[in-house]
Amino acid sequence: MSVRRPLGSLAGLAVLGACALEVLGCGSHSHHAAAGAGKPASHPVSTPKPIGADIPIGCGPAHRLYTETGDTPDKVVALTFDDGPSGYTHYVLDILEREQVHATFFLIGNQVRDYPGQVRRELRDGNLIGNHTYTHPDMLQVSFGHAFKELQGAQQAIWEATGFIPCFWRAPYGSINDALKYLARSFGMDSIQWDTDPQDFTEPSAAEIYHRVLYGNPKDPDPGVHPGAIVLMHDGGGNRSHTVEALPRIIDALRARGYRFLTIPELLHMKLAYAHEAPARRPASAAPPAPARGIHPGA
Ligand SMILES: [Zn+2]
Repeated sequence: MSVRRPLGSLAGLAVLGACALEVLGCGSHSHHAAAGAGKPASHPVSTPKPIGADIPIGCGPAHRLYTETGDTPDKVVALTFDDGPSGYTHYVLDILEREQVHATFFLIGNQVRDYPGQVRRELRDGNLIGNHTYTHPDMLQVSFGHAFKELQGAQQAIWEATGFIPCFWRAPYGSINDALKYLARSFGMDSIQWDTDPQDFTEPSAAEIYHRVLYGNPKDPDPGVHPGAIVLMHDGGGNRSHTVEALPRIIDALRARGYRFLTIPELLHMKLAYAHEAPARRPASAAPPAPARGIHPGA
């Protein structure tokens, strides 16, 4: 897919992601960002739209750097949805709302600009969101500078739409190495992958998606859902009608097995931040005067 707007180069956004939320104690990693920032800001940043006082504006990384599974014996599971927002997202959100289940969405930045209302609803409904790059490239096939802009662009798009700054990301196609993990950390983000993959992106039937989540995928060593599982599904990137169809049945079956549904921050004990907790000052990179961008108590 194409990049419809220039990514820009807001040099301070990595610093913002890593450090603006000082209530989280995550201010020690910005030097990585400075090394990769390159050019100064090329355009002003619009003011994000705060959703409400009870909606988080950010979260603190678990400082695990990389996670594929929740390390717990408890019957808890994190449902995650990648590649949105898209025209299927509201179907997923309707099901989650009806079932009173919270999930985690990994968002493609340039689609956030097309569906800002869906992203705001994700947060408003109690779900959490993560960064899934700006254009969804294989991050091992692009330059380090390009990778930086992919993370930065998605952070910026999410922040502009919601006032929320993600504290974790997921590498498209699972393509990740240590350099990317540390690059993400410079944005204040942990790298979160998955351990339960029904491969719904291949558009199998709803029954097959359900079976793979519950019992594993015979084409993969994936054993199916288990305590602490992080389940990968998709609400964008293709025809997701079968995923939407399978979701209520998956939720019902997991509930019948005694599972509870947690967001990634809940599963990994990441702290959420709210505007009333944030320091009343602008980040160092901020060009425009107050009102500040979603981190100000009055914003
Ligand atoms: Zn993806």
